[in-house]
Amino acid sequence: MDQASGSTQLLLNVSALKGQASKTAYLGAIIAVTSIIVATLSVCYFASGSISLEGIVAAQKTNFGLWILDALPFIFTFWGQYAGSIIAYQAGAMILDQTNELRSKTATLEKQAIYSSTHDALTDLPNRSLFYDRVEQAILSANNQQRTLSVLLFEVENYKEIYSALGRNNSDLVLKQISSRLQGAVKSFENIARLEGGTFSLLIDDEQEDVLQVSNSIQESMQAAFIVERQPVAIHTCTGIVKFPEHGEDVDTLVQRAGIALYIARNNKEGSAVYDPSFDKHSPQRLTLMSELRHAISRDEFALFYQAKVSLETNAVYGVEALIRWLHPKHGLISPDDFIPMAERTRTIQQVTRWVLRQAFIDCAKWHKTGMNLKVSVNLSTKDLHDPELPDFIGGIQASTQVKPEWIILEITEGSIMTDPEQAMEIIQRLHDRGYQFSIDDYGTGYSSLAYLKKLPLAELKIDRSFVKDIVHSQNDAVIVNATIHLAQNLGLKIVAEGVENTEVMEKLRDYGCDIVQGFYINKPQPIEEFNTWLKNSQWHT
Ligand code: C2E
Ligand code: CA
Ligand code: CA
Repeated sequence: MDQASGSTQLLLNVSALKGQASKTAYLGAIIAVTSIIVATLSVCYFASGSISLEGIVAAQKTNFGLWILDALPFIFTFWGQYAGSIIAYQAGAMILDQTNELRSKTATLEKQAIYSSTHDALTDLPNRSLFYDRVEQAILSANNQQRTLSVLLFEVENYKEIYSALGRNNSDLVLKQISSRLQGAVKSFENIARLEGGTFSLLIDDEQEDVLQVSNSIQESMQAAFIVERQPVAIHTCTGIVKFPEHGEDVDTLVQRAGIALYIARNNKEGSAVYDPSFDKHSPQRLTLMSELRHAISRDEFALFYQAKVSLETNAVYGVEALIRWLHPKHGLISPDDFIPMAERTRTIQQVTRWVLRQAFIDCAKWHKTGMNLKVSVNLSTKDLHDPELPDFIGGIQASTQVKPEWIILEITEGSIMTDPEQAMEIIQRLHDRGYQFSIDDYGTGYSSLAYLKKLPLAELKIDRSFVKDIVHSQNDAVIVNATIHLAQNLGLKIVAEGVENTEVMEKLRDYGCDIVQGFYINKPQPIEEFNTWLKNSQWHT
């Protein structure tokens, strides 16, 4: 019921009540008058034996009971008026109360409507429109006081995958946890907004906080896995940063350029980027690259390069890692870091992985035919571990190439398992049942949950090259590498050190008891023919 119709209803009720009171009073008055007439006539008749005007006058003059009766119509009329007024008064007070109540309800509803049009219902954070308003206001005051601002866009890169893997309710839970971590990681938490899906934004007063530090603490705060239904879920994030007034003087330009920085951040290793005008040229080029990537297979532009894995026990090459390259007709050789993340965001990665697997199996078969018993490692990406058709596809190429599953090692990262551990485990298990071996790649950079590693059917653990490269000079890295080697060996895994660039590092790894090394010190990744020639003449030949 709205306020106006509520009041009208009340007014109608009041006049109905008043009418009721008056009616009862009038009825009382009529009864009283009738009683006076009947009583007077009766008194007159009983006193004189007949009814006459003198008898009636005498009865009225002398009978005390009639006097009281005579007063009754007045009493009834007065009572009617009095009762009517009291009811009207009470009804008036009621109207006032209810109007006030309606007014305060309306004000609350209005406040709620304003709040929900400016806030995100899920996280309770300001939404895009409030964020834009706040940036505009901040620009005005920053202009007056000659201050600088930063706008940071934060994106959960694998939000779509999380959404499709976990469904709406659970991915909402992840978003809520992200929002809480964001608020914890940032001093000016009241300036965080959720723009859409997995994209958040943040306005920073440069005098209050350093945007790069904020970006780091945000990334750090997102490292630990999120728990949904007691399962860990990992997110991949990136941040794009712009500065006012350096990169733009209005909110639209700033947010658009932060978007370009975000685009660059998605494709670089750091996962964050500060806008630079050179990005403007870069990003359309990237967009073209992305569309060209889809045709790279049919145009036969991919190549597999191989890098040796040397056993420190035998000092001989025991296997190779297959690393993809894109031989672009215009841009030349493009490294996988520049297109694999791009392929991972689209469905193209499935085709890329399948191309790599087919080529690696063909090359593996060739080596084994010529008596070179190399194990071939192939990198799988997150999406591959969510592709239920992968085991059958691999079964198909295995049958056509006659490669034995134990000649192949599939490299996966901790992060790729964490997005949807159950599905990933199922696919890993199916492949393991067929005899394929698994290796954990980039160990130490992800979410090192030993509990998970223990559950996986692993054969090998590869320590990330960022820990390996400095072991000679950094005591810290040396301790980490040494501990990791022992941990892996206790779990019954072979340990591979990546990124070995010189003999000192290799000898130190040997001292620590490392099983296998890989790195530029041995060879740079090279095409198969070059690799074969190199191996024949190398000290690492069996
Ligand atoms: P990754 O799997 O960690 O591969 C090792 C990377 O380290 C390779 O880079 C290799 O060239 C480089 N590397 C090896 N030894 C050294 C060294 O001594 N020093 C230095 N500085 N670097 C060394 P690359 O080939 O550029 O590959 C980069 C990443 O791209 C790979 O990292 C892998 O994550 C991804 N990648 C490569 N090929 C494929 C593929 O076929 N499928 C998928 N999904 N990802 C791939
Ligand atoms: Ca690898
Ligand atoms: Ca690696």
